[in-house]
Amino acid sequence: TIGGNLARTVERFPDREALVDVESGRRWTYAEFGAAVDELARALLASGVRRGDRVGIWAVNCPEWVLVQYATARVGAVMVNINPAYRAHELAYVLNQAGVSLLVASLAHKTSDYRALVEQVRGQCPALRETVYIGDASWDALVARATPQGAAELAAREALLSCDDPVNIQYTSGTTGFPKGATLSHHNILNNGFFVGEMIAYTEQDRVCLPVPLYHCFGMVMGNLAATSHGACIVLPAPSFDPAATLRAVQRERCTSLYGVPTMFIAELGLPDFAAYDLSSLRTGIMAGSPCPVEVMKRVVAEMNMAEVSICYGMTETSPVSTQTRRDDDLERRTGTVGRVLPHVEVKVVDPVSGVTLPRGEAGELCTRGYGVMLGYWDEPERTAEAIDAGRWMHTGDLAVMREDGYVRIVGRIKDMIIRGGENVYPREIEEFLYGHPKVADVQVVGVPDERYGEEVLACVIPRDPADPPTYEEIAAYCRDRLAHYKVPRRVEVLDAFPMTVSGKVRKVELRERYGR
Ligand code: ATP
Ligand code: MG
Repeated sequence: TIGGNLARTVERFPDREALVDVESGRRWTYAEFGAAVDELARALLASGVRRGDRVGIWAVNCPEWVLVQYATARVGAVMVNINPAYRAHELAYVLNQAGVSLLVASLAHKTSDYRALVEQVRGQCPALRETVYIGDASWDALVARATPQGAAELAAREALLSCDDPVNIQYTSGTTGFPKGATLSHHNILNNGFFVGEMIAYTEQDRVCLPVPLYHCFGMVMGNLAATSHGACIVLPAPSFDPAATLRAVQRERCTSLYGVPTMFIAELGLPDFAAYDLSSLRTGIMAGSPCPVEVMKRVVAEMNMAEVSICYGMTETSPVSTQTRRDDDLERRTGTVGRVLPHVEVKVVDPVSGVTLPRGEAGELCTRGYGVMLGYWDEPERTAEAIDAGRWMHTGDLAVMREDGYVRIVGRIKDMIIRGGENVYPREIEEFLYGHPKVADVQVVGVPDERYGEEVLACVIPRDPADPPTYEEIAAYCRDRLAHYKVPRRVEVLDAFPMTVSGKVRKVELRERYGR
């Protein structure tokens, strides 16, 4: 179990640092972290939290978030991670869908007054018994319920837990629609965290900077569990993503590893004083979540000192990572692919209609199988049956190619594929191409309904210079003779930002709705 694994790390590395909160300056060694988790677990037991109960966490990044993750695992509760960007109706939906009885929440952050939002929905959530706010007297009161005598009860209850027990309901990003609650076991995510860390050779010497939201599997599994299963230190730069705070944290804490989705690395590289940060301690990191433009990857390797940066591909439902690049992979593999399959995981590429496995080199739906496949969507057996087939293969909804060398290339999401006049158009290919236009800072390509062709290609462009955006004619002229005619965008819209999920992905579904009239 996750608790057992943490105990082993505490025993091996009691004096190494486990957790650092850069903004507040608070820090814990593994011995201190283990003790704090133990105390919180006893407090949860004293509050009536039992095996299988759902405990919600609705908070921006902070050390308490990490304590709650491990303490809930130790008492056998199911932690429900709730998106910190949610508003009242979404919060109520998740609390009710998962049957959360105890909620731990931030007080407030930026424009979100979490306490006020909880107050708004409390009456609509009959299962919710208690809410505790981090940094508030209610948190101290919770922790104060822990007693020394509780240790025996905790040990007795912990002995009964199974590694197949659900430990988290992790909601997906909601990139393509409403988020789904993936129910994951100790066995699912502890193994994945361990192997992801293994691939980038984490040891107790590593210090992992996490500007990604903890609420998402990128933070809590690939970050927290990868670090604690190898004795590495978790470094939290700020409550929510801030490029300058991130690089400051790397410099100050001598971090060896830095995580991010591509847009985060783009923001860091774009800081006006980027060159002033000392990033010499970095050696590795993880970039994941969405496709990374080649140019960005080159700069991350060369200018951020991340020679060993790893690309991961995965989804919440598979704990999350299925494929990953290796330390000695060349730049071509780290930009053109998402690596090859992790140990003890299987992947295959199938014809989405017939389900037949395709030869290497052909695009089809990626399916994955192994220890990481979730127990199911929480309380949604029908959706689970649609996603996981009788052979326990998870159907990812992603289009991919398995190359001859076993490396996997992601072509895009099935839902994003454009079918224009019978031709399949993959937005990713056009996006990569348009990144090369001097007036384009960022671009998303989506399909919009068209009477004649069924769908048409629309390019949504963020210009480098807002005062001088590219015109439709300029984009079309750039594409002509260099892209097949059916791939050339028929419409260009200029934006200053894309609609994003909190985990840093562009919600193409919103762009389609906005421009698809
Ligand atoms: P939802 O399922 O709610 O629509 P989501 O699929 O974005 O949202 P996540 O589980 O956070 O939710 O993300 C998994 C998806 O992210 C994958 O299915 C894939 O489409 C995309 N993805 C993950 N890693 C990569 C990567 N390295 N390159 C390209 N795409 C990636
Ligand atoms: Mg998904």
